[in-house]
Amino acid sequence: MKLAKRVVEMAESATLAVSAKAARMKAEGLDVISFGAGEPDFDTPAHIRQAAIDALNSGKTKYPNPASGLIPVKKAICDRLEKDHGLRYAPEQVIVTSGGKDAVYMAIHALIEPGDEVVIPAPYWVSYPEMVQLAGGTCVHIHGPEEQDYKLSPKLLESALTAKTRMVILNSPSNPSGVTYHPDEIRALAGVLQAKDLCVVSDEIYDRLLYGGQKSLSYAALSDKAYSQTLTVNSASKTYAMTGWRLGYAAGPVNLIKSMAKLQSQSTSGAATFGQIAYAAALSGSDEVFEAMRIEFERRGKYMWDRLTKLPGVRCPRPTGAFYCFPNVSGTFAPMGLKGSMEFASRLLTECNVAVVPGLAFGMDAHVRLSFATSMEQITKGLDRIESWLRGAAR
Ligand code: PMP
Repeated sequence: MKLAKRVVEMAESATLAVSAKAARMKAEGLDVISFGAGEPDFDTPAHIRQAAIDALNSGKTKYPNPASGLIPVKKAICDRLEKDHGLRYAPEQVIVTSGGKDAVYMAIHALIEPGDEVVIPAPYWVSYPEMVQLAGGTCVHIHGPEEQDYKLSPKLLESALTAKTRMVILNSPSNPSGVTYHPDEIRALAGVLQAKDLCVVSDEIYDRLLYGGQKSLSYAALSDKAYSQTLTVNSASKTYAMTGWRLGYAAGPVNLIKSMAKLQSQSTSGAATFGQIAYAAALSGSDEVFEAMRIEFERRGKYMWDRLTKLPGVRCPRPTGAFYCFPNVSGTFAPMGLKGSMEFASRLLTECNVAVVPGLAFGMDAHVRLSFATSMEQITKGLDRIESWLRGAAR
Protein backbone atom coordinates (compact mmCIF):
# COMPACT_ATOMS: atom_id res chain seq x y z
CA MET A 1 0.00 0.00 0.00
CA LYS A 2 1.31 3.48 -0.84
CA LEU A 3 1.81 5.50 2.33
CA ALA A 4 1.73 9.25 2.87
CA LYS A 5 5.18 10.81 2.54
CA ARG A 6 4.75 13.07 5.56
CA VAL A 7 4.43 10.08 7.89
CA VAL A 8 6.89 7.83 6.05
CA GLU A 9 9.50 10.54 6.59
CA MET A 10 8.71 10.88 10.28
CA ALA A 11 11.05 9.23 12.83
CA GLU A 12 9.60 6.77 15.30
CA SER A 13 9.83 7.93 18.93
CA ALA A 14 13.33 6.80 19.97
CA THR A 15 12.40 6.61 23.63
CA LEU A 16 9.41 4.36 22.98
CA ALA A 17 11.51 2.27 20.55
CA VAL A 18 14.23 1.68 23.19
CA SER A 19 11.61 0.71 25.80
CA ALA A 20 9.96 -1.69 23.34
CA LYS A 21 13.29 -3.32 22.45
CA ALA A 22 14.22 -3.74 26.13
CA ALA A 23 10.77 -5.25 26.81
CA ARG A 24 11.23 -7.73 23.92
CA MET A 25 14.63 -8.79 25.29
CA LYS A 26 13.13 -9.22 28.77
CA ALA A 27 10.34 -11.36 27.29
CA GLU A 28 13.04 -13.57 25.76
CA GLY A 29 14.31 -14.19 29.29
CA LEU A 30 17.29 -11.81 29.27
CA ASP A 31 18.16 -9.90 32.45
CA VAL A 32 17.78 -6.41 30.96
CA ILE A 33 18.14 -3.21 32.97
CA SER A 34 16.16 -0.45 31.29
CA PHE A 35 17.06 3.19 31.75
CA GLY A 36 14.95 3.92 28.67
CA ALA A 37 11.47 4.79 29.83
CA GLY A 38 10.51 8.25 31.08
CA GLU A 39 7.90 6.66 33.26
CA PRO A 40 7.52 6.49 37.05
CA ASP A 41 7.86 2.92 38.32
CA PHE A 42 5.25 3.68 41.01
CA ASP A 43 1.61 2.65 40.70
CA THR A 44 -0.99 5.38 40.36
CA PRO A 45 -1.91 6.26 43.99
CA ALA A 46 -4.93 4.41 45.40
CA HIS A 47 -7.23 7.43 45.84
CA ILE A 48 -6.90 8.27 42.12
CA ARG A 49 -7.63 4.70 41.05
CA GLN A 50 -10.62 4.69 43.40
CA ALA A 51 -11.96 7.91 41.87
CA ALA A 52 -11.89 6.27 38.42
CA ILE A 53 -13.62 3.13 39.72
CA ASP A 54 -16.31 5.24 41.40
CA ALA A 55 -16.77 7.24 38.19
CA LEU A 56 -17.17 4.06 36.15
CA ASN A 57 -19.64 2.61 38.67
CA SER A 58 -21.71 5.77 38.63
CA GLY A 59 -22.14 5.69 34.85
CA LYS A 60 -19.43 8.14 33.75
CA THR A 61 -18.92 6.04 30.65
CA LYS A 62 -20.32 8.34 27.97
CA TYR A 63 -18.53 10.76 25.63
CA PRO A 64 -16.84 13.58 27.49
CA ASN A 65 -19.06 16.64 27.32
CA PRO A 66 -17.82 19.11 26.28
CA ALA A 67 -15.16 17.30 24.23
CA SER A 68 -12.60 19.88 25.35
CA GLY A 69 -12.93 18.66 28.96
CA LEU A 70 -15.44 18.36 31.76
CA ILE A 71 -16.07 21.70 33.47
CA PRO A 72 -15.26 20.50 37.05
CA VAL A 73 -11.97 19.07 35.73
CA LYS A 74 -11.10 22.36 34.04
CA LYS A 75 -11.90 24.10 37.34
CA ALA A 76 -9.57 21.74 39.23
CA ILE A 77 -6.84 22.59 36.68
CA CYS A 78 -7.43 26.33 37.16
CA ASP A 79 -7.19 25.93 40.95
CA ARG A 80 -3.95 23.98 40.61
CA LEU A 81 -2.39 26.59 38.31
CA GLU A 82 -3.30 29.31 40.80
CA LYS A 83 -1.99 27.33 43.77
CA ASP A 84 1.29 26.26 42.16
CA HIS A 85 2.12 29.30 40.06
CA GLY A 86 -0.23 32.14 40.99
CA LEU A 87 -1.69 31.87 37.47
CA ARG A 88 -5.33 32.84 37.02
CA TYR A 89 -7.12 31.05 34.21
CA ALA A 90 -10.84 30.65 33.54
CA PRO A 91 -12.20 27.22 32.45
CA GLU A 92 -12.66 28.45 28.85
CA GLN A 93 -8.90 29.01 28.71
CA VAL A 94 -8.24 25.34 29.43
CA ILE A 95 -8.41 22.17 27.32
CA VAL A 96 -8.12 18.65 28.77
CA THR A 97 -6.11 16.45 26.42
CA SER A 98 -4.99 12.85 25.96
CA GLY A 99 -1.62 13.49 27.60
CA GLY A 100 0.80 16.39 27.38
CA LYS A 101 1.93 15.03 24.02
CA ASP A 102 -1.53 15.56 22.55
CA ALA A 103 -1.59 19.11 23.93
CA VAL A 104 1.72 20.02 22.26
CA TYR A 105 0.64 18.28 19.03
CA MET A 106 -2.63 20.19 18.81
CA ALA A 107 -0.99 23.51 19.68
CA ILE A 108 1.52 23.07 16.87
CA HIS A 109 -1.23 22.19 14.40
CA ALA A 110 -3.36 25.11 15.53
CA LEU A 111 -0.53 27.62 15.15
CA ILE A 112 2.03 26.55 12.58
CA GLU A 113 1.72 27.13 8.84
CA PRO A 114 4.16 25.85 6.22
CA GLY A 115 7.29 27.99 6.31
CA ASP A 116 6.82 29.17 9.89
CA GLU A 117 9.85 28.74 12.15
CA VAL A 118 9.74 27.10 15.54
CA VAL A 119 12.69 27.60 17.88
CA ILE A 120 13.52 24.41 19.78
CA PRO A 121 16.42 24.58 22.24
CA ALA A 122 18.61 21.43 22.25
CA PRO A 123 18.70 19.00 23.85
CA TYR A 124 14.98 18.73 23.16
CA TRP A 125 12.22 16.24 23.81
CA VAL A 126 12.15 13.83 20.84
CA SER A 127 8.65 14.61 19.65
CA TYR A 128 8.83 18.40 19.17
CA PRO A 129 10.72 18.39 15.84
CA GLU A 130 8.63 15.60 14.32
CA MET A 131 5.40 17.38 15.24
CA VAL A 132 6.62 20.68 13.80
CA GLN A 133 7.71 19.03 10.55
CA LEU A 134 4.38 17.23 10.22
CA ALA A 135 2.67 20.61 10.35
CA GLY A 136 5.00 21.89 7.60
CA GLY A 137 6.98 24.12 9.97
CA THR A 138 10.74 24.59 10.05
CA CYS A 139 12.67 23.69 13.20
CA VAL A 140 15.40 26.04 14.36
CA HIS A 141 17.59 24.29 16.90
CA ILE A 142 19.82 26.23 19.26
CA HIS A 143 22.46 24.78 21.54
CA GLY A 144 23.28 26.40 24.87
CA PRO A 145 26.87 25.85 26.02
CA GLU A 146 27.80 22.76 28.03
CA GLU A 147 29.32 24.97 30.80
CA GLN A 148 25.85 26.51 31.27
CA ASP A 149 24.20 23.06 31.39
CA TYR A 150 22.92 23.75 27.84
CA LYS A 151 20.75 26.62 29.02
CA LEU A 152 20.13 29.50 26.64
CA SER A 153 21.37 33.00 27.25
CA PRO A 154 19.07 35.83 26.10
CA LYS A 155 21.67 36.70 23.42
CA LEU A 156 21.70 33.19 21.99
CA LEU A 157 17.93 33.05 21.99
CA GLU A 158 17.71 36.42 20.27
CA SER A 159 20.09 35.23 17.55
CA ALA A 160 17.68 32.41 16.61
CA LEU A 161 14.61 34.63 16.18
CA THR A 162 13.62 35.88 12.73
CA ALA A 163 10.56 37.51 11.20
CA LYS A 164 9.30 33.97 10.50
CA THR A 165 9.49 32.74 14.12
CA ARG A 166 5.97 31.81 15.22
CA MET A 167 6.74 29.68 18.25
CA VAL A 168 9.41 29.02 20.86
CA ILE A 169 9.18 25.81 22.87
CA LEU A 170 10.50 25.99 26.43
CA ASN A 171 10.77 22.88 28.57
CA SER A 172 11.95 23.33 32.14
CA PRO A 173 12.70 21.03 33.95
CA SER A 174 14.04 19.44 30.80
CA ASN A 175 13.64 16.07 29.24
CA PRO A 176 16.32 14.86 28.47
CA SER A 177 18.85 16.91 30.45
CA GLY A 178 17.13 17.09 33.86
CA VAL A 179 18.23 20.74 33.91
CA THR A 180 15.91 23.44 35.28
CA TYR A 181 15.98 27.15 34.48
CA HIS A 182 16.25 29.34 37.58
CA PRO A 183 13.51 32.01 37.85
CA ASP A 184 16.09 34.72 37.04
CA GLU A 185 17.09 32.87 33.88
CA ILE A 186 13.44 32.59 32.79
CA ARG A 187 13.02 36.32 33.42
CA ALA A 188 16.06 37.06 31.28
CA LEU A 189 14.69 34.99 28.37
CA ALA A 190 11.36 36.74 28.71
CA GLY A 191 13.20 40.02 28.23
CA VAL A 192 13.79 38.87 24.65
CA LEU A 193 10.56 36.97 23.94
CA GLN A 194 8.09 39.51 25.30
CA ALA A 195 9.09 42.00 22.64
CA LYS A 196 8.08 39.58 19.87
CA ASP A 197 4.82 38.52 18.29
CA LEU A 198 5.11 34.77 18.82
CA CYS A 199 3.70 31.97 20.94
CA VAL A 200 5.69 30.47 23.79
CA VAL A 201 4.74 26.87 24.41
CA SER A 202 5.90 26.23 27.96
CA ASP A 203 6.01 22.49 28.54
CA GLU A 204 5.99 22.25 32.33
CA ILE A 205 5.11 18.61 32.76
CA TYR A 206 7.97 18.12 35.25
CA ASP A 207 7.21 21.28 37.25
CA ARG A 208 6.57 19.38 40.48
CA LEU A 209 9.65 17.16 40.20
CA LEU A 210 12.35 19.53 41.43
CA TYR A 211 15.46 18.66 43.45
CA GLY A 212 18.10 20.30 45.62
CA GLY A 213 15.84 23.21 46.58
CA GLN A 214 15.53 24.25 42.92
CA LYS A 215 12.75 26.76 42.26
CA SER A 216 10.72 26.94 39.09
CA LEU A 217 8.83 29.85 37.60
CA SER A 218 6.00 29.30 35.17
CA TYR A 219 6.70 31.44 32.08
CA ALA A 220 3.13 32.77 31.88
CA ALA A 221 3.35 34.05 35.48
CA LEU A 222 6.04 36.57 34.56
CA SER A 223 3.94 39.45 33.26
CA ASP A 224 0.73 40.30 31.42
CA LYS A 225 2.55 40.10 28.10
CA ALA A 226 4.06 36.70 28.94
CA TYR A 227 0.62 35.48 30.03
CA SER A 228 -0.99 36.56 26.77
CA GLN A 229 1.68 34.95 24.55
CA THR A 230 1.96 31.61 26.37
CA LEU A 231 0.39 28.20 26.19
CA THR A 232 1.19 26.32 29.41
CA VAL A 233 1.24 22.54 29.00
CA ASN A 234 1.08 20.00 31.80
CA SER A 235 0.20 16.35 32.31
CA ALA A 236 -0.96 13.71 34.77
CA SER A 237 1.74 11.31 33.57
CA LYS A 238 4.84 12.15 35.57
CA THR A 239 3.67 13.94 38.72
CA TYR A 240 0.88 11.49 39.54
CA ALA A 241 2.37 8.29 38.05
CA MET A 242 -0.44 8.17 35.46
CA THR A 243 1.41 7.61 32.15
CA GLY A 244 -1.02 4.96 30.90
CA TRP A 245 -4.11 7.07 31.59
CA ARG A 246 -3.22 9.52 28.81
CA LEU A 247 -4.29 12.75 30.47
CA GLY A 248 -2.91 16.26 30.27
CA TYR A 249 -3.96 19.83 29.63
CA ALA A 250 -3.07 23.14 28.07
CA ALA A 251 -4.00 26.61 29.33
CA GLY A 252 -3.69 29.82 27.35
CA PRO A 253 -5.40 32.42 25.15
CA VAL A 254 -9.08 31.66 24.49
CA ASN A 255 -8.78 31.73 20.67
CA LEU A 256 -5.93 29.22 20.71
CA ILE A 257 -7.77 26.92 23.13
CA LYS A 258 -10.90 27.13 20.96
CA SER A 259 -8.90 26.23 17.87
CA MET A 260 -7.32 23.25 19.64
CA ALA A 261 -10.79 22.20 20.85
CA LYS A 262 -12.05 22.24 17.26
CA LEU A 263 -9.17 19.99 16.22
CA GLN A 264 -9.90 17.71 19.17
CA SER A 265 -13.61 17.54 18.27
CA GLN A 266 -12.61 16.25 14.81
CA SER A 267 -9.98 13.80 16.06
CA THR A 268 -10.15 12.09 19.48
CA SER A 269 -13.43 13.64 20.81
CA GLY A 270 -11.56 14.31 24.06
CA ALA A 271 -9.93 12.43 26.92
CA ALA A 272 -11.78 9.46 28.51
CA THR A 273 -14.57 10.70 30.80
CA PHE A 274 -13.85 8.56 33.88
CA GLY A 275 -10.11 9.25 33.53
CA GLN A 276 -10.76 12.99 33.61
CA ILE A 277 -12.68 12.58 36.88
CA ALA A 278 -9.74 10.71 38.39
CA TYR A 279 -7.41 13.46 37.13
CA ALA A 280 -9.47 16.03 39.04
CA ALA A 281 -9.04 13.89 42.18
CA ALA A 282 -5.27 13.86 41.62
CA LEU A 283 -5.12 17.63 41.07
CA SER A 284 -7.22 18.56 44.08
CA GLY A 285 -6.19 15.85 46.58
CA SER A 286 -3.42 15.91 49.16
CA ASP A 287 0.15 16.27 47.87
CA GLU A 288 1.69 13.94 50.46
CA VAL A 289 1.86 10.81 48.32
CA PHE A 290 3.39 12.70 45.38
CA GLU A 291 5.94 14.34 47.62
CA ALA A 292 7.06 10.87 48.74
CA MET A 293 7.66 9.94 45.09
CA ARG A 294 9.56 13.18 44.47
CA ILE A 295 11.84 12.53 47.45
CA GLU A 296 12.57 9.03 46.18
CA PHE A 297 13.36 10.34 42.67
CA GLU A 298 15.73 12.90 44.20
CA ARG A 299 17.60 10.17 46.10
CA ARG A 300 17.95 8.02 42.98
CA GLY A 301 18.99 10.93 40.79
CA LYS A 302 21.73 11.97 43.18
CA TYR A 303 23.05 8.42 43.33
CA MET A 304 23.01 8.01 39.54
CA TRP A 305 24.70 11.37 38.95
CA ASP A 306 27.39 10.67 41.60
CA ARG A 307 28.27 7.42 39.92
CA LEU A 308 28.11 8.66 36.33
CA THR A 309 30.42 11.59 37.02
CA LYS A 310 33.07 9.21 38.39
CA LEU A 311 33.21 7.17 35.17
CA PRO A 312 36.12 7.59 32.75
CA GLY A 313 35.24 9.85 29.78
CA VAL A 314 31.86 10.90 31.21
CA ARG A 315 30.61 14.40 32.14
CA CYS A 316 27.08 15.14 33.27
CA PRO A 317 25.02 18.15 34.35
CA ARG A 318 23.45 17.61 37.73
CA PRO A 319 19.73 16.90 37.40
CA THR A 320 17.69 19.52 39.25
CA GLY A 321 14.35 18.32 37.92
CA ALA A 322 12.49 15.59 35.94
CA PHE A 323 14.04 12.12 36.24
CA TYR A 324 16.88 11.97 33.75
CA CYS A 325 20.66 12.14 33.63
CA PHE A 326 22.07 13.22 30.28
CA PRO A 327 25.79 12.48 30.38
CA ASN A 328 28.22 13.53 27.66
CA VAL A 329 29.87 10.20 26.88
CA SER A 330 31.93 11.33 23.88
CA GLY A 331 35.12 10.78 25.93
CA THR A 332 34.40 7.05 25.77
CA PHE A 333 33.99 6.91 21.98
CA ALA A 334 37.69 6.59 21.05
CA PRO A 335 38.70 4.08 23.78
CA MET A 336 35.58 2.00 23.11
CA GLY A 337 35.86 2.27 19.31
CA LEU A 338 32.41 3.90 19.05
CA LYS A 339 31.16 6.25 16.35
CA GLY A 340 28.43 8.02 18.29
CA SER A 341 25.51 7.74 20.68
CA MET A 342 23.58 5.23 18.52
CA GLU A 343 26.47 2.81 18.60
CA PHE A 344 27.09 3.47 22.31
CA ALA A 345 23.47 2.58 23.11
CA SER A 346 23.25 -0.43 20.82
CA ARG A 347 26.53 -1.98 22.05
CA LEU A 348 25.63 -1.34 25.68
CA LEU A 349 22.35 -3.13 25.10
CA THR A 350 23.80 -6.14 23.31
CA GLU A 351 27.00 -6.49 25.38
CA CYS A 352 25.65 -5.61 28.87
CA ASN A 353 21.85 -5.82 28.58
CA VAL A 354 21.52 -2.18 29.65
CA ALA A 355 19.12 0.09 27.73
CA VAL A 356 19.78 3.84 27.41
CA VAL A 357 18.45 6.28 24.80
CA PRO A 358 20.95 7.68 22.25
CA GLY A 359 21.39 11.44 22.56
CA LEU A 360 21.04 11.85 18.79
CA ALA A 361 17.27 11.51 19.26
CA PHE A 362 17.42 14.64 21.45
CA GLY A 363 19.67 16.53 19.04
CA MET A 364 23.02 15.79 20.76
CA ASP A 365 25.09 12.85 19.56
CA ALA A 366 27.76 13.15 22.30
CA HIS A 367 25.21 12.11 24.92
CA VAL A 368 22.92 9.34 26.11
CA ARG A 369 19.88 9.64 28.35
CA LEU A 370 19.34 7.51 31.42
CA SER A 371 16.04 7.63 33.27
CA PHE A 372 16.17 7.20 37.04
CA ALA A 373 12.47 6.43 37.26
CA THR A 374 13.39 2.87 38.13
CA SER A 375 14.25 1.11 41.38
CA MET A 376 17.48 1.78 43.28
CA GLU A 377 18.36 -1.88 42.90
CA GLN A 378 18.07 -1.67 39.09
CA ILE A 379 19.99 1.60 39.04
CA THR A 380 22.85 0.11 41.07
CA LYS A 381 23.00 -3.02 38.95
CA GLY A 382 22.84 -1.11 35.67
CA LEU A 383 25.56 1.33 36.70
CA ASP A 384 27.77 -1.55 37.86
CA ARG A 385 27.48 -3.01 34.37
CA ILE A 386 28.19 0.30 32.62
CA GLU A 387 31.17 0.89 34.90
CA SER A 388 32.79 -2.47 34.23
CA TRP A 389 32.11 -2.09 30.48
CA LEU A 390 33.84 1.30 30.36
CA ARG A 391 36.62 0.44 32.80
CA GLY A 392 37.33 -2.72 30.79
CA ALA A 393 38.11 -0.54 27.76
CA ALA A 394 40.08 1.99 29.82
CA ARG A 395 42.48 -0.75 31.05
N1 PMP B 1 6.71 16.74 27.23
C1 PMP B 1 7.84 16.21 27.71
C2 PMP B 1 9.01 17.10 27.94
C3 PMP B 1 7.91 14.83 28.02
O1 PMP B 1 9.04 14.32 28.52
C4 PMP B 1 6.78 14.02 27.78
C5 PMP B 1 6.80 12.53 28.08
N2 PMP B 1 7.96 11.89 27.91
C6 PMP B 1 5.62 14.64 27.30
C7 PMP B 1 5.61 15.99 27.03
C8 PMP B 1 4.35 13.88 27.05
O2 PMP B 1 3.91 13.16 28.12
P1 PMP B 1 2.42 12.62 28.23
O3 PMP B 1 1.85 12.63 26.86
O4 PMP B 1 2.56 11.26 28.80
O5 PMP B 1 1.72 13.56 29.12
